[in-house]
Amino acid sequence: MSSIIEKDQQFVWHPFTHLKYAEAPVHLVKGEGAYFYDADGKKLLDGISSWWVNLHGHCHPYISKKVSDQVHSLEHAIFSSFTHTAAVTLAERLIGHLPGNQSKVFYSDNGSTAVEVGLKMVLQYWHNQGQSKKKFIAFEHAYHGDTFGGMSVGARNVFNNAFDNLLFDVIHIPLPDANTIEQIKETLQMWFTNHNDIAGFIFEPLVLGAAGMLMYQADLLDELIALCQKNQVICIADEVMTGFGRTGKFFASNYLDHHPDIICLSKGLTGGYMPLGVTSCAQFIYDACVSDDKTKTFFHGHSYTANPTACAAALASLDLMENEDTERQIRLISDCHQHFVQKLAEHPALKDIRSLGTILALEINTQEHTHYLNHASESIAAYFLKQGIIVRPLGNILYLIPPYCITEKELNEVYDVMEGFLAQL
Ligand SMILES: *Cc1c(COP(=O)(O)O)cnc(C)c1O
Repeated sequence: MSSIIEKDQQFVWHPFTHLKYAEAPVHLVKGEGAYFYDADGKKLLDGISSWWVNLHGHCHPYISKKVSDQVHSLEHAIFSSFTHTAAVTLAERLIGHLPGNQSKVFYSDNGSTAVEVGLKMVLQYWHNQGQSKKKFIAFEHAYHGDTFGGMSVGARNVFNNAFDNLLFDVIHIPLPDANTIEQIKETLQMWFTNHNDIAGFIFEPLVLGAAGMLMYQADLLDELIALCQKNQVICIADEVMTGFGRTGKFFASNYLDHHPDIICLSKGLTGGYMPLGVTSCAQFIYDACVSDDKTKTFFHGHSYTANPTACAAALASLDLMENEDTERQIRLISDCHQHFVQKLAEHPALKDIRSLGTILALEINTQEHTHYLNHASESIAAYFLKQGIIVRPLGNILYLIPPYCITEKELNEVYDVMEGFLAQL
């Protein structure tokens, strides 16, 4: 064992890690394009964009240069009573890409805080109207982060059992399909008619990531948003994972006819360089906090809010996103995934195979049920790592969410390894 790994085991506590049985971690020393390199010089294809954050490949020279320029001119700036060019420019450019009703950008540090800010904006809105609406609607299998608000609106499962009775009450509804949408709408309509306490509806649009890349249709989400908005329920799209081209469009919300009132962004926002969160909102949410009454202020902020270095990375990543080459790559990955889905549609080792945009998911048949603790996860990851590919299955769900710089040849290599893996089951 190398001395770094030894010291890692001695001093570091890793996230989401089964401490007693976890294998020693892989020591990464370098990133370049779609690849990591470990301490032995082994090249590893990054099939999951390093926790779904990387968009354009590792150590992209253009983003690295822009980040370097920024740290040499203004590395951090207090963001209350002060501002800086990168934050303002980024806000303006994001508003240009977001659905037409979005008009203000609130910065924070990561996906969980972007969600937390969204939830608090909704509660503050109703508070400032003098109404005691405090309940949220959310999807049963949702994941919205690890802070208390995020856990509360997320699925109740092993991630948060230990905190269960401290989480606030949420109305959990199933993911809609063509057969259940009417029933779900009826249930909601009953709530709206009988109670006047529902503040907001939060959802991951089209793809529930951590739940296992569960997918559902845009037209059904549109119906739910329309029903909620008709009943004065504020809609929050958590696009922390789906943003920046992941689903094939710039934002998953671009598939919708009804605009969410609030949108949460992080992960791909900086191209995977720096932690940064954004919560954008429609003008009426902001206006509710503009008042002579000081108690109606939105009292929320973080010490690294709108960090200039993070904003510079996000601006550079946006430059690349707006480039035609990136659009072409996103289309290429989407087409390749779809082709592979058709090829494996009837595979006996699979319960399901699905894709949307650059996301591909294979639900593998195992004796255990489909869920996060399914033991298949470790053995699948180990099999792929041996073949030089990094994946991190969610239980028995094997998925790909690669950086956009991946080539068709590299994708086909990954598909081949996937088929080889399924064949030996
Ligand atoms: C990852 C994720 C979060 C949490 O983001 P962090 O930056 O890990 O705190 C929230 N919502 C969704 C949909 C996510 O995928």
